[in-house]
Amino acid sequence: MFQRRRVNGVNVRALRTPKVKEFVHASFWTCPDCGTEGTFGVLTVCDRHYVRRCIHCWFDQRLPLPALKKRIIYLDQFVISNMMKELDPASGQLPGFYRSLFERLDRLSKLQLVVCPDSPIQDHESVVDSRYEKIRAVFRQLSHGVSFHRPRTLLHAEIMHAFRCWVGDKPFQSDVDRSFALRPNPDLWYDEIRIDLNFTLPGFPEALKQSCDKITKNLHQTCEEWRTQRDFRFKDAFNNELDGSAKLILKREASLISRMLSELAASFPSSDDWFERVRAFLAQSNFELFLA
Ligand SMILES: [Zn+2]
Repeated sequence: MFQRRRVNGVNVRALRTPKVKEFVHASFWTCPDCGTEGTFGVLTVCDRHYVRRCIHCWFDQRLPLPALKKRIIYLDQFVISNMMKELDPASGQLPGFYRSLFERLDRLSKLQLVVCPDSPIQDHESVVDSRYEKIRAVFRQLSHGVSFHRPRTLLHAEIMHAFRCWVGDKPFQSDVDRSFALRPNPDLWYDEIRIDLNFTLPGFPEALKQSCDKITKNLHQTCEEWRTQRDFRFKDAFNNELDGSAKLILKREASLISRMLSELAASFPSSDDWFERVRAFLAQSNFELFLA
């Protein structure tokens, strides 16, 4: 991988720049342009086609690939974590079921038969772990960069669809499919080279930990209240939580709209009280519609 270069009259050891023909690999065919045998190899694999190049005359040809419909397999954090432990020599864990599972899924995904999408949930559950990079390497290896949208985006899409069904007096049937839930499209061919970048906002793991601790504390408190409550009935508690959640979502939405309008009003100070009136109307209509 190293070569000698002369810099200011001195020989230095420098990383060798790979030549384009080194990216061309088997299988090698006879070049349809210059006719040389065993020189026409695979240069790149794209979403739905691949490119062959002759390493003798540099002739390129674009060739179609068959359409794909991959199986989607979602891996729980428990599985990812165990795979990482059985793959990591530093963990001291002997290879077993999870190592074998990883090898099978890795092979199936490279054969373009399955994809194991990663998700923001996996990322958030992993980023608070000191072995984050190792866990991430496992789920990114099997996802090939295919990810689920944020859970909130999927939830909102389901709620909006349910609302439209209700307004149209139609029975609810989910319309969130793989083409909406995943990005990019999972049914594409992978190239052999994948460049993966990682960036974690400074302070993000700490903020997640704090939020998780707060939620756990509130859950303990609520459970204790239920435990000591007289005549506790699950149905009542469920309905109370449902009502409370709906009001909380609407309160947050109203607050968000109000903040956006304030920012708009600040951008256009000459628009009199128009933004104020719209904001008041939206806030009022939101609450009146849903809190009634
Ligand atoms: Zn050729």
